This record gives sequence, C-alpha cells and structure tokens, in this order.
Amino acid sequence: MTELYTLTAHAAHALLTAREVSARALLESVLARIDAVEPRLHSYLRLLPETARAQADAVDAKIAAGEAIGPLEGIPLALKDILCTTGVPTTCASRMLENFIPPYDATVVRRLREAGVIVVGKTNMDEFAMGSSTENSAFGPSHNPWDLSRVPGGSSGGSASAVGGDEALLGIGTDTGGSIRQPAAYCGVVGLKPTYGRVSRYGLIAFASSLDQVGPITKDVTDAALLMNAIAGPDPCDSTCFPEAAPDYTAGLGRSIAGLRIGVPREFFTQEGVQVDAGVERAVRTALDLYAKLGAEIEECSLPNVRFSLPTYYIIAPAEASSNLARYDGVEFGYRQTGTKDIIGMMTASRDRGFGMEVKRRIMLGTYVLSSGYYDAYYLKASQVRTLIRQDFERAFERYDVLVSPTAPSVAFPLGAKVDDPMQMYLNDICTIPINMAGIPALSLPCGYDRGLPVGLQLMGAHWAEPALLQAAYAYEQAAGWTRTAVDEAGRVTAAG
Ligand code: GLN
Repeated sequence: MTELYTLTAHAAHALLTAREVSARALLESVLARIDAVEPRLHSYLRLLPETARAQADAVDAKIAAGEAIGPLEGIPLALKDILCTTGVPTTCASRMLENFIPPYDATVVRRLREAGVIVVGKTNMDEFAMGSSTENSAFGPSHNPWDLSRVPGGSSGGSASAVGGDEALLGIGTDTGGSIRQPAAYCGVVGLKPTYGRVSRYGLIAFASSLDQVGPITKDVTDAALLMNAIAGPDPCDSTCFPEAAPDYTAGLGRSIAGLRIGVPREFFTQEGVQVDAGVERAVRTALDLYAKLGAEIEECSLPNVRFSLPTYYIIAPAEASSNLARYDGVEFGYRQTGTKDIIGMMTASRDRGFGMEVKRRIMLGTYVLSSGYYDAYYLKASQVRTLIRQDFERAFERYDVLVSPTAPSVAFPLGAKVDDPMQMYLNDICTIPINMAGIPALSLPCGYDRGLPVGLQLMGAHWAEPALLQAAYAYEQAAGWTRTAVDEAGRVTAAG
C-alpha cells in the first residue's frame, strides 16, 4: 500500500472524508517519515508533534461527529521559520532571533489555522531569506532529497526539502528574488510566487518589503491552488495587500489551453556571464513541444531590460534590508551581547555576533547605496530601471498569456560549490529575480530531469494572473504525467539511505 506521507493534500482529503484514513494516522505517517529521513535532510529547525497531534485528534472528532471538513483540514504542513507563530520561536535561521517568541500569528498562519491545516514544524532557510542554498542558515544547511550532497535551493530550502522528501504534504515559503520557485525546482515540487500584494505580509519578518511575497510549495498544481485559496486575500493589517477578494484558484484547473499564447523570452536562456545548462534547456524545450501539442501557440520573444534585473535587485533588496534590519540592535529587538562597556559597544557586539556573513554583506551594500551623495546614483537609478523592467513585462503580456523559461540555469548544485563566490550564487537567480522586480506572479513545476535531478519549468503571468498560470501548469502536469510514482522510482532519499 502507498505510504500516507507520499500523498498529495487533495488525495489525503478524499481518504479523510471517506473515513478510510484518520487525520491522526496521516500525521503519524508523516512523523515517522520525519524520524527516518530528517537526520539526513535537516529540513526543520523545530518540530511541533504534540500540538500537531492535538489538532489531528480534533479533526478526527469532527469527522466522527459527522461534520464536514474543509479541503485542507487535517493536512500536515511545513512552515518557513520566517512567519510569526504565537508562542513558538521564529528565528529566521539567525542567531539574532534565536530566542524570539512572537506574541502573535502572521496573517498567513492565522488563515492556515482557520483552514484546519496542521503545522508540523518550522523549516530551515537562509538567514533572513538571503541566499539560494540554505547554506546561510545559522543552524546548518538542509540537504536535497534527491541527492544528499547537493543543496535543496533557497532561501525556502527547508520547506522544499520537507515537501520533496515527503516530510510534509504541504509547504509554505517566501520569495523575494526566487526563494519559493528555485528550491521547488531543485526538489522536484511545485512552487508559486503570487502577485505582490495578493498574500498578506503581516507577521512575515521583512527582508525587502517591496519584493517579499508568501506562497505555496506543494507536490502538485492542485495543492498549490488549494493552498492559495487558504492564504490569499485582503488584510487590513497589511496596507500593501490588494483589497479585493481572491478568486477560487481551483476553478480553471482542467480547462483546455488550446489557443494559449506562450512567449519564450530569450534573455532567460542566455545572459552575460550565465548560460542555461544544455540538459535544463532540453527539458524546457521538450515541455514547450508538449504545450504545442496541447494547442498552445509558441513564439520566441525578447524582454531587453531583463538583463538589468540582477544589478538592480542587488541595489534595491540590500537597501530595503539595511533599513528593515536596523531594528535588531539588542535594545528592543534581537540578541543582546552583555558585558560591553557602553551602549554603542553593546549594539556593535550584538550585531556582530547576531548576524552572519551574508546578512552583514547585504547591510553594508544597502547602507552604502542609500548614503547621501550615492542615493541618486544607485537607489534612484535602480528604481527607474525597475520601472523599465516592469514595462517590458507589461508589453509582453499584451501579446502573450504566459511566458515560459527555466526556473534556474542548472539543477541543484553541490553543497559548498558556491559559498566562497557570492557572485556565482547571485547569478543563479537570473531567471527568478526579474519577476519580483515586476511584481508579477510566477510558478515553477517539475518538467523532467537533467543528470537524474529535477528541472523546474517557470510560467510567468501578468499581475493577478495566478488562475491562468495554475490552469496552464495543470494542463502540462496532467499531459506530462510527472506523477509521484515517477518521482519515487527516480530514487529520492529513502528510509534506508
Ligand atoms: N537568492 C536571492 C537572494 O539571496 C533571493 C532570496 C529570496 O527570494 N528570499 O537575495
């Protein structure tokens, strides 16, 4: 029989409502899987088995009483440790917040609880979401479930390795420059970065406020739509959150995509200093062939300003980060170093010990580009270029419904391969960062393998076009048949090793 931990959320829901499986049995299966593989994956920073068991039992009591349950009720989820959880430490994988216990839930967390989702644990990540491999975690890296010597991607690497390694049925990540999509691609799962403003950022610990978005990491497209239904929508606590109600994201799944206009922007395959790997490009082109068979019209196109995305991002994101992270000085927020001789010494020592190398690098970069005399040359100029990038996308979406590219230029790279070369680490994000600069939604889904490791296909849409992305992704997923069985046969981490 199939192990329960391998199920998608919608398949598990069917078993729960048919009373073939209890929420407690589903949870115990996931917890046993965690016991077996977590020492090698290190997806989680903290597990919450006792509260999870109590929640599962409550769902079972509801089912026993003949009450209807919601589509995600009783489903175990892995939550990135950047979202505030009442009474449960929220560390951002930083020494700075090692002892931070939030007095409130993030809006996304509150919504998940209201939907009856069970949070099994808080997942590992790059410190303050800065990175592409989880190697910047102060608590040690996570590992890729397909090859333990490789990174799971980042910064939401823990949530992706948890879902890809079957340590949870659902995952939540955040994406400032690719942190949902790239780890989803590396771990062979689906990841969706919603339109900026579609999901509340209240209670999300800020990295770069004009770019950060929360979104789902799931085993298939249907689950991504279901999770969006739970988390998307207006929030009076976040003034940047879109005030109109979110649609039903499952509504378009299964509709034909005949006549869908797909643009394939060449800047996402080759740019100065980066070339997408031949095996990755092959998988993406094969996926496009399948789209053509399904009736889509495919055309090469160009977004000329996209090549400025990376330099623009590395001005805007660090600028916002340096401002957001100024609050961690040991006075009101963050780790406090004792035994120093005065307050300046206390702040300096606290920040020195509390922050890791990459975070310090970003703070220095950000402080520099915002300093008087440099503001116009760097920050102001970057903001203007950002507008040009957004306009490139707006023009493209007058012609195309969806743009398609690889999610990352390569499959998961070996642990340690890029830690000493930040530029190489940054260049890994050329396909994902432009999307955050434009504020549009994008989804990554598995589209085959290169050298035995999963390749991600990125679908990009206009603002608020998540339904179209999900519909297009679902059509491909059904036709291509990258089922969980195929995934298991390809040999991910097993209980045995
Ligand atoms: N890898 C990018 C960075 O390091 C994006 C991270 C993210 O999306 N949070 O900034």
